[in-house]
Amino acid sequence: MSALAIKIRNPQLEVKIVRSPQIGIIQVGEGSFPHLTKFLHGYLGINPADFYREVRPTWKLGIRYLWGSRPNGFQYTFRTQFDSRFKMLSKSTGYYCEPEIGYPDIATAMMELDRAVLHDEKGNPVIDRDHAYHVENHEFVTFLESYAKQSGVEFHDDEVEEVLTDENGIAGLRLASGVTETAGLYVDCSGFRSLLVEKHLGNSFRSYDSSLLCNKAIVGGWTREDEVLKPYTTAETMDAGWCWQIEHRERINRGYVYSTEFLSDDDAEVEFRSKNPKVTDTRTVNFRSGILENPWTKNAVAVGNASGFVEPLEATALGQIAQDAQSIAEILAESDYRISHTMAKQHNHRFRRSWENIRQFLAIHYRFNKRLDTPFWKAARNDVDIAGAAEFVEYYEENGPNTLFRPTLIDRFDQFNLDGYLAMMIGQQVPHRNRYEPPKAEMEIWRRINAANHRNALRSYDCATGLEKVEAPDWQWNFEFFRQAWTEIKTV
Ligand SMILES: Cc1cc2nc3c(=O)[nH]c(=O)nc-3n(C[C@H](O)[C@H](O)[C@H](O)COP(=O)(O)OP(=O)(O)OC[C@H]3O[C@@H](n4cnc5c(N)ncnc54)[C@H](O)[C@@H]3O)c2cc1C
Repeated sequence: MSALAIKIRNPQLEVKIVRSPQIGIIQVGEGSFPHLTKFLHGYLGINPADFYREVRPTWKLGIRYLWGSRPNGFQYTFRTQFDSRFKMLSKSTGYYCEPEIGYPDIATAMMELDRAVLHDEKGNPVIDRDHAYHVENHEFVTFLESYAKQSGVEFHDDEVEEVLTDENGIAGLRLASGVTETAGLYVDCSGFRSLLVEKHLGNSFRSYDSSLLCNKAIVGGWTREDEVLKPYTTAETMDAGWCWQIEHRERINRGYVYSTEFLSDDDAEVEFRSKNPKVTDTRTVNFRSGILENPWTKNAVAVGNASGFVEPLEATALGQIAQDAQSIAEILAESDYRISHTMAKQHNHRFRRSWENIRQFLAIHYRFNKRLDTPFWKAARNDVDIAGAAEFVEYYEENGPNTLFRPTLIDRFDQFNLDGYLAMMIGQQVPHRNRYEPPKAEMEIWRRINAANHRNALRSYDCATGLEKVEAPDWQWNFEFFRQAWTEIKTV
């Protein structure tokens, strides 16, 4: 993704990927946020027809949380759920969603009904800016590699054995074949090894383990049988962490993210399999949550797991890679390839701000989840550091789902927006001191709003039908429309 962004934005640059097929890729990273959709089709210009044919994605409208004390959990959608106000109602939407959430937006209703895509009066699917993807990692990476080759990115399959440094940063990469590769800018995408920027340029690592307790995942899945293809990721509370369910066309992938301080690997496997009896093979992945202080250091910049990672609860990593890749490509273009020190500094600044937002948002998932009383969840409720979310939480506990101070409560770069925070607080039924009992007349209006969302959702396609429509031989993607709709203004 980084190589593609750089090459597409700066076609005259020579871009080369050195990668080791022996080491391979981490092979997780299958859920995403709508930002990735925009990056792929808007910024990289990937034609949806090619993407759907090769990668065979499914649609993700949000996350269903089996979390908190609601027996059926709650939905977190990528549309606006709670940060809204209907004309005829005296309070913002969140107040009407207590104790029953209902259908504050159409996506909540669609998720409830396993519907994925609206259609116009002719029956054509309408894929909008709020559609994110589930992608199988292998297919996704294979597609990106072939698109990169077509776009003029070179590949060199080899292993970096020695990293040479000098006062400018990285001076070269000595490879197993004996070749030494040199470059004007080194983009460190070496995964958790963080080979260049952390190991050789001495960057310090800011750990998030006071907020995020998990450090390992067991991953497995099975071939889909008669299960419904759901238009969302499921996040299910487990004894010492949580379990994802990601929906692919022919496969269902699950992964138990847990803390080794509270659960042994053997016990994790037993719990994982007892709740997912169809799981075939499993493998484990170790990780640490945290970021590099300065991913851009001298003539090298780290992207992806090499630069930072927080556990995958909101599936933010691919979106973050997209943002960083775009930022690097733009800096190169805007600085006429004389990398500006102050631009690199701002890249680091935005990077840290973005990850801090993710960290605090995930922390509130842990702090308020009352579904289980295991030692892990007791520790999470007592000890998790909610960091920059403290002011928002204090405000919510006093005022409830009030939206008046949206601009000061939530950072404007926070991708989850106030809406995401409200979804987690309302969904987890976090108590507050400003309970509102809507009068009967207002409740009747609210009932009608819910009914309309439910009715409209019933008219939408499920995932399988929608995919069939956009993959039919006579389907024409209006690519230019999508490109425009998905192209972000060039701010990074
Ligand atoms: C349990 C888990 C679940 C996740 N789920 C999600 C999710 O749902 N959504 C999401 O957005 N993200 C998720 N992620 C994050 C995801 O892993 C990354 O977003 C994504 O895979 C990018 O990885 P990467 O390219 O940084 O690293 P990698 O895939 O590890 O790639 C590293 C590359 O560097 C090469 N390399 C390393 N050392 C050398 C060397 N010495 N010489 C030559 N080449 C070398 C490797 O061969 C490889 O090609 C998850 C992560 C974990 C741990």
